[in-house]
Amino acid sequence: MTQLTNLLDLDPAQLVAYCGELGEKPFRAKQLQRWIHQFGVGDFDAMTDLAKSLRDKLSTRAMVAAPAVISDHTSVDGTRKWLIDVGQGNAVETVFIPEESRGTLCVSTQAGCAVNCRFCSTGKQGFNRNLTVGEIIGQLWMAEFELRRTKGIEPGPKGERQITNVVMMGMGEPLLNYEPTVTALKLMLDDNGYGLSRRRVTLSTSGVVPMIDRLSQDCPVALAVSLHASNDALRDDLVPLNKKYPLHELMAACKRYLEFAPRDFITFEYCMLDGVNDSDANAMELVAMVQNGAESVSCKFNLIPFNPFPESGLLRSKTPRIKAFAKILIDAGIVTTIRKTRGDDIDAACGQLAGEVQDRTRVHERMRSVAEYQQKFGKNFGRLVEVTE
Ligand code: SAH
Ligand code: SF4
Repeated sequence: MTQLTNLLDLDPAQLVAYCGELGEKPFRAKQLQRWIHQFGVGDFDAMTDLAKSLRDKLSTRAMVAAPAVISDHTSVDGTRKWLIDVGQGNAVETVFIPEESRGTLCVSTQAGCAVNCRFCSTGKQGFNRNLTVGEIIGQLWMAEFELRRTKGIEPGPKGERQITNVVMMGMGEPLLNYEPTVTALKLMLDDNGYGLSRRRVTLSTSGVVPMIDRLSQDCPVALAVSLHASNDALRDDLVPLNKKYPLHELMAACKRYLEFAPRDFITFEYCMLDGVNDSDANAMELVAMVQNGAESVSCKFNLIPFNPFPESGLLRSKTPRIKAFAKILIDAGIVTTIRKTRGDDIDAACGQLAGEVQDRTRVHERMRSVAEYQQKFGKNFGRLVEVTE
C-alpha cells in the first residue's frame, strides 16, 4: 500500500506542486488549502466544490492528519492547554491564552530541546526529536477549530477567528528545527491559510545567530530573543548556546534582523531568577548593552517571573525586585513589561510545558486511558477527552 501524503505537511507552493502531480490545476490547491485551513475540514468527501474524481483520487492518496490530543485542560483564567501525542511516548503542549482583544496560541516546535537552559524544564527533558510541519501547523489547525467548536462558531475564512496571534514559545528551539518551522510560518501567513500578519506571529529563539539571518530572508516574522543575562559569563551558565554565539554576535544579529522585521524592535525575554540575574547592576549592564552608540538595538523587554520546577534549584525573583529592575530599564527609555503568569493551575506557564511529559509514566497512563475510552466509545473518542489525574 502506498503511504498517504499528509496535506498538513505541505506549504502553499508544495500543495500546488502536489496537485500538479495529480494532473490538477493550481487553483485546486487554493481550494484545497481553504477547505483545510479555513474551514477545518479533513474529510475530502465534505469538500463539495471539488470534482468527485479529485475527491476520490485524494482519498486514496492523501490525508489531513493533525497529531492526536491526549488531554485538554482549561484553567480558571481561561487558558487552555492541550497535550499532544507525537508518538513513541513523546508529547508536546499547545497553549491558548485568551485576552480581551486577542487570542494567542503558543506552539511547540520540538519534542524536548537540546539547548538545555538551566531554568527550563523542557531543556531538562533533553532532546527527543524535531516536529514535522504537520505537527507544528496541526497544533494551530486543531486549536482554532476546537475553540470554534467549543464556542459554537461556524468555520470559515473570517467567521470570528479565535486565534489572532501565534507565538513560537512552547517546547523546543524553533531555529534548530528550521525548515519545518519556516514552512509552518508560511502557512500561518498565507491568505488561503490563516492569513495572519507578520506582526502577529512571533518566533522566540535562544539565539541561533546564523538562523536569525536566514529567517530575516526567508520569513521575517516578529522576533523575540531569550536573553536572560547581561553578560557572557552569566549567559554561558544560563543559556549554554551562548558559548557558541556570544552576546556581541547576538546583538549584531538582532540589529541586522531589524532591517527586515515587521516591527521596529526586538523583544528581549528575561526570566527573573532570584539572586542570579536580577540585581540593579544587571539591569544597568543591559541598558549599556542595548544602548551602545552605533551598536544600539531597538528593543522592548519582557520580564518573565521564573516559574519554578522542583529540580531547577532556582527561585523566582520577588515582585518588588522585578519592579525595581523594570524601573531601571524604563528610566533608560526602554519599553518594559512584566509578564503576567497565566494558566498556573494547569502547569501551562512558560517553562512548565514539560512538567507532565517529564514524568513519562503519567503520559503513558493517559495514553492508555485514551486507548481504553476509544475501545469503548469508538476511535474518534479522545480527541477532546479530559483525562483527570
Ligand atoms: N526555545 C525558545 C522558545 C521556547 S521557550 C526560547 O528559548 O526562546 C519560551 C520562553 O520561555 C523563553 O524565553 C524561555 O526562556 C522562557 N522560559 C523557559 N523556562 C522558563 C521558566 N521556568 N520560567 C519562566 N520562563 C521560562
Ligand atoms: Fe530550549 Fe528555549 Fe527551554 Fe532553552 S528556554 S531549553 S532554548 S526551550
